Amino acid sequence: MSTSELQALINPGVKSLVPYQPGKPIEELQRELNINNIVKLASNENPLGCSPKAIEAIQAAYTGVARYPDGSGYQLKTHLAKMHDISPSLITLGNGSDDIFTYLLRAFVTQEHEVITSEYAFAAYAIATKAIGAQLKVVPAKHYSHDLEKMAEAVTPKTRMLFIAHPNNPTGTWNDKQSLLKLLDAVPKDVIVVIDQAYFEYMADDNYLDAIPLVERYPNLVATRTFSKAYGLASLRVGYSVSHAVISDAINRIRLPFNVNSFALSAALAAIQDQDFLQQAISHNAEQLPLLCHGLETLGLRLLPTAGNFVTVDLGQDAQPIFEQLLREGVIVRPLKGYNMPNHLRISVGLASENTRCLTALEKILA
Ligand SMILES: *Cc1c(COP(=O)(O)O)cnc(C)c1O
Repeated sequence: MSTSELQALINPGVKSLVPYQPGKPIEELQRELNINNIVKLASNENPLGCSPKAIEAIQAAYTGVARYPDGSGYQLKTHLAKMHDISPSLITLGNGSDDIFTYLLRAFVTQEHEVITSEYAFAAYAIATKAIGAQLKVVPAKHYSHDLEKMAEAVTPKTRMLFIAHPNNPTGTWNDKQSLLKLLDAVPKDVIVVIDQAYFEYMADDNYLDAIPLVERYPNLVATRTFSKAYGLASLRVGYSVSHAVISDAINRIRLPFNVNSFALSAALAAIQDQDFLQQAISHNAEQLPLLCHGLETLGLRLLPTAGNFVTVDLGQDAQPIFEQLLREGVIVRPLKGYNMPNHLRISVGLASENTRCLTALEKILA
């Protein structure tokens, strides 16, 4: 069989995909440039690491390494349910929250259906939608932010799912409570609305909507959360959704039995029980994000409004050469060409010293 014959077998939706480009790993830059002391501000990770209690839980889980994990995630789900004051039957655990998006799509969306997302929205929605061969409808953004009115208007009888990143990555933008509620009221009940709250813990604004309590009022609403960001457990891959029990039952049928490993289950459980660490991470971010933004503005750069633990900078010129020069200074940030934002860079909040390294390097490069 020739290469082209083999390629012809690939599902058309899959063939249309461009592989997701993650933030450059530190080890990769180390190999390429043979430099040490690299600062990575490219993947919105927690610069403080994770709770020491989560580390202890991982160490304790070593002894069980030969056993399959608890496929039902009983303990973690029970504690999450208590934390959110809901029934555990509304919760589904995923290998990262990305994993949940793929379950939702496979459970509810066929190739005949449309899925709505926003321009500049988090890439995982488009990848997972195209992978199942469904029709992706991308609604133009308004000032880089989701245009919820236009998204609601874009719904047709073929629409089965609508994704909202709240806040969005890579833009940092978010929509206020009223406009989200308006969308939920406007959208037909047979359209499943996924509100991705990966940065929930960092959001302090009164006008920011907590989607979880609304699941009771809107049976077509799914809220997702992750342990990858404020909880600092990105490497372990664990996230969850809260939805009507019928939806969680459907996605639980698709979920393969051991999608979340024992280390992730134990560490996530310990992490939610260490609210002190979480508060520390939130305070660090609340203190450092404005400083980072101020430093960038002092360099004459324009920023998108920011929420979460990162900021997106408009360089007013092709960002790729500046990204590459930053690499040579040992600073990894995230270029956004893949998002059709070639002039922007996304910078995650790091430790104070890391943010300073980034600002100093940028100043040198832009001079
Ligand atoms: C980081 C991020 C996620 C989290 O993905 P995980 O698979 O849980 O690590 C989800 N949505 C958005 C918008 C993100 O930025």
